[in-house]
Amino acid sequence: MQKVAVIVLGCPKNIVEAEYLLGILNDKGFKITNSVADADIAIIHTCSFIKKAQKESENTIRNILNVKKKTNLLVYVSGCLSQMLQDKMLKLFPDIDGFVGTGTLQKIPELILNKNFDKIFLPPGGFNNSKHRVLSSNIPSTYLKIAEGCQHRCSFCIIPSLRGNYESRTIESLVNEAKALSDHGVKELILIAQDTTGYGKDIYGIFALDKLLAKLAKLSNLKWIRLLYAYPSSVTSNLLDVFNEYKNICNYIDIPIQHISRNILSSMKRPLNTGKIIEKIKTKLPEIVLRTSVITGFPGETKEDVRELISFLNKGFFQYIGVFEYSNQNEAESSKLKGQIKNDIAKGRKIEIEKAQYEIFKSKIAKILYDKIDVLVESCVKEADKYRIKARSYFQSPEIDGNITLTQDKSLQVGNFYNSTLMSLKGYDINAKL
Ligand code: SF4
Repeated sequence: MQKVAVIVLGCPKNIVEAEYLLGILNDKGFKITNSVADADIAIIHTCSFIKKAQKESENTIRNILNVKKKTNLLVYVSGCLSQMLQDKMLKLFPDIDGFVGTGTLQKIPELILNKNFDKIFLPPGGFNNSKHRVLSSNIPSTYLKIAEGCQHRCSFCIIPSLRGNYESRTIESLVNEAKALSDHGVKELILIAQDTTGYGKDIYGIFALDKLLAKLAKLSNLKWIRLLYAYPSSVTSNLLDVFNEYKNICNYIDIPIQHISRNILSSMKRPLNTGKIIEKIKTKLPEIVLRTSVITGFPGETKEDVRELISFLNKGFFQYIGVFEYSNQNEAESSKLKGQIKNDIAKGRKIEIEKAQYEIFKSKIAKILYDKIDVLVESCVKEADKYRIKARSYFQSPEIDGNITLTQDKSLQVGNFYNSTLMSLKGYDINAKL
């Protein structure tokens, strides 16, 4: 049977989708390989939510097509770039063998078997095939995509046009998938969607993330349940209560605010009371660790707006921040706004905010040094006569919040939790000892 390599670009939601695709390819008898050189077919699952991601996707397609020139490799493209470009994809990459939109990913095996193109791009959407998912890594943590699409229309964002309106999965299907994952050895489940806090409104008529979390928390093998991509105005008191009720729900929320000045929030079409909502969360859950994302250089942003943002951040609500320079997407509403800002100014403001935030981060970690906490081991590598261990604590998301590092004489089991003492800080990594 033919060997297939799936190359995934972009966000964790794309990773989960690709794992579902691997599941149906497996069902159809294709052999999965993670080497393009060894493959008969390459599927590139793309991202295009900002210009940089779009460029990366296009370069990846070009590189794979170069392999095709020297081999009989069949090349298929899926994901957000495919949905965004549609027929223009063929003009840009005439040598590809097929491409599908975000709403028709599951059609790829059929396309390959029948050797024909797919012309169905609408409606945009997503794909979940919870029954057969092939995990792309064997680390003890993985993602659970609880919904597709988005009901918001932030002026800088093209995701709703690529992924459609909000579509929650049922609590039952999510709990079944979570159970299968925890039976498979997953210890940490990370909940993702474009807006996780909007979960359930479309199918149950109410925000139901608290109910989903309560069900998932009863799966005792799951030691950590983590919430990413919360949206300020759909954070409910019921949701915050759940954090106090279940020990295995990490005391951590990723909640992008994007900005704080009313002037900018208004032209971003985002909740003007974002600051109040963050204060409410920290009042109700003072110990909770918050991560956020902000954009610098949004059209019309003044020095005063940046000062307002930095003074809000200096209140210390957030332990971690991702700072992104505004990316002017032609397809986004904000590309038509006056007062577009030069990139170097946006970059300068990004550095200024990152510097201010690092001081806040340092002061927060200084307060917990010498505390004893459980850490989840993700890798253990022998170097000379020592073992270098990479782990994480409940307040660190994979790949974005730094790691806990340990160096010691004996090895530790990947996937196990160990009680450790936090000793010192190195950048965003924290050195610890057992
Ligand atoms: S919440 Fe806003 S930024 Fe996030 S996906 Fe939806 S429209 Fe885009």
